Amino acid sequence: MSPNVRFPDGAKVCALGQGTWEMAEEFSRRADEIRSLRTGLDLGLTLIDTAEMYGEGAAETLVGEAIAGRRDEVFLVSKVYPHNASVEGVQIACENSLKRLKTDRLDLYLLHWPGSHPLAETIAGFEQLKTQGKILRWGVSNFDLDEMEEALAAPGGNACASNQVLYNLNARGVEFDLAPWQAARNMPLMAYSPVDRGDLAGNAALKPIARKHGGTPAQIALAFLLGRENVISIPKASTPAHVEANAAARNIRLDADDLAAIDRAFPPPRRKQRLAMY
Ligand code: NAP
Repeated sequence: MSPNVRFPDGAKVCALGQGTWEMAEEFSRRADEIRSLRTGLDLGLTLIDTAEMYGEGAAETLVGEAIAGRRDEVFLVSKVYPHNASVEGVQIACENSLKRLKTDRLDLYLLHWPGSHPLAETIAGFEQLKTQGKILRWGVSNFDLDEMEEALAAPGGNACASNQVLYNLNARGVEFDLAPWQAARNMPLMAYSPVDRGDLAGNAALKPIARKHGGTPAQIALAFLLGRENVISIPKASTPAHVEANAAARNIRLDADDLAAIDRAFPPPRRKQRLAMY
């Protein structure tokens, strides 16, 4: 099964996408990284997440190469540095991202984390880019609930299409307030570091569940998130084998016993926890 998540404007994406942080940092890994992203597209992992920050543009350039000739298959997400998020700044940053990605548009453009430019200015810049057709929708990243409420209250703020945050079994705090708040608004929550930067791939508590399903702990960590409504996970995998394994996590159904075991090992939040971030 391939669970889908809908954006407020009706756009539908697979709940499993692909991250790119730390790609394009070593030339020897480049061919594998490009092959991995293309393998992901072949398997329906069509959302690709990148940022101007990753390798200071190098990851975007690599993505541009990976998606060459296949742009229309991709739901392309990039992010602007907070220090570039003025009205004029987002214009320049976005144009540079588009050049590196060798495309004329982003499907989603995110403010990477809250910064010092007034949000109303960032939103005005995003809306200008939307009018120009350079981005199709915009959102934010690393915004906690109070920051989301502030964003939505700003002029034009209710067009915010997503918030991308740290969410994995080691960091379940968003389940207490932010995830239900976003779900109530049909605003997809993009879960970054879903394998906790690789940490969950060797997790002892996940091993018996993985054995039962003939899978791996990393797949169980992803299957858990795939079972949550309104959540899009974006694991980064730099080998085709890891991408294939991640795609196969879509076939794992965790049952009540699995979920109870997960809750014992990774207790869900009982009170508000400040949003964690990498
Ligand atoms: P992640 O996806 O949780 O973990 C990546 C690590 O897990 C890599 O070492 C990868 O190894 C390994 N891995 C992936 N699939 C695996 C599998 N099937 N079996 C075993 N190991 C596997 O961490 P992340 O890269 O931090 O997060 C994902 C994406 O979220 C990023 O790439 C980025 O696009 C985004 N992100 C956004 C923010 C933000 O502030 N908005 C912050 C962090 C991340 P290999 O590379 O060897 O395959």
